[in-house]
Amino acid sequence: MDSRHIGIGMTSQRTRLRMVERLREQGIRDETVLAAMGEVPRHIFIDEALASRAYEDLSLPIGFGQTISAPLTVARMLELARGGRTPMRALEIGTGCGYQAAVLARIAKEVFSVERIAALLGRARRSLRELRTGNVKLKHADGNFGLPDLAPFDLIVMAAAAPEVPEALTTQLDVGGRLVMPIGTREQRLVLIERTDKGLVETRLEDVHFVPLLPGTRV
Ligand code: SAH
Repeated sequence: MDSRHIGIGMTSQRTRLRMVERLREQGIRDETVLAAMGEVPRHIFIDEALASRAYEDLSLPIGFGQTISAPLTVARMLELARGGRTPMRALEIGTGCGYQAAVLARIAKEVFSVERIAALLGRARRSLRELRTGNVKLKHADGNFGLPDLAPFDLIVMAAAAPEVPEALTTQLDVGGRLVMPIGTREQRLVLIERTDKGLVETRLEDVHFVPLLPGTRV
């Protein structure tokens, strides 16, 4: 552990277990997701000045106008996307600081995560390396197109809101696969899309608030 994490490192395990208890009280039932969130040190993904708040039920700024989602949001998305399975090949759109990718890495066999802002991706890469997360591959790309060369995926999560579901993503969803993302602009709903052998089934869930999915890439 490097020096910037020592102060909080002493108490983070306990604080993290309290976070997991809170997630349980808030209705998260998936033990695999809860265990993964109990393992990943969330504070290492957050700027030192804010790290003491890492385990509170808050989204926090990560620079470039972006945010790390609140723990409940990450847990809820992953619980829905997992659907009780052990996904083989997962795709995340919007790596951000890399926290959700690190949790996903403990749920799925292989994780691909796409981010449009190169500087965020660089930081995420360092944090994931620090945790020795070997089964996550990061890509600097526009997630609107998914990752056609690596499809199909049996789990897709998108951490940014789009007015509608990008067609590339449903195309890259395997039969039996589950896609979870926020839909909408000012008013957003979480949406679950399942590809069954008869086609796509869409379920609209609770209201949420995410940063927007933007086009293209930047440094
Ligand atoms: N899962 C992240 C949450 C990041 S917020 C975490 O754990 O921190 C959403 C992220 O989506 C932002 O970093 C934003 O830059 C990214 N994003 C927005 N539009 C995108 C696009 N078209 N392709 C890839 N990433 C995108």
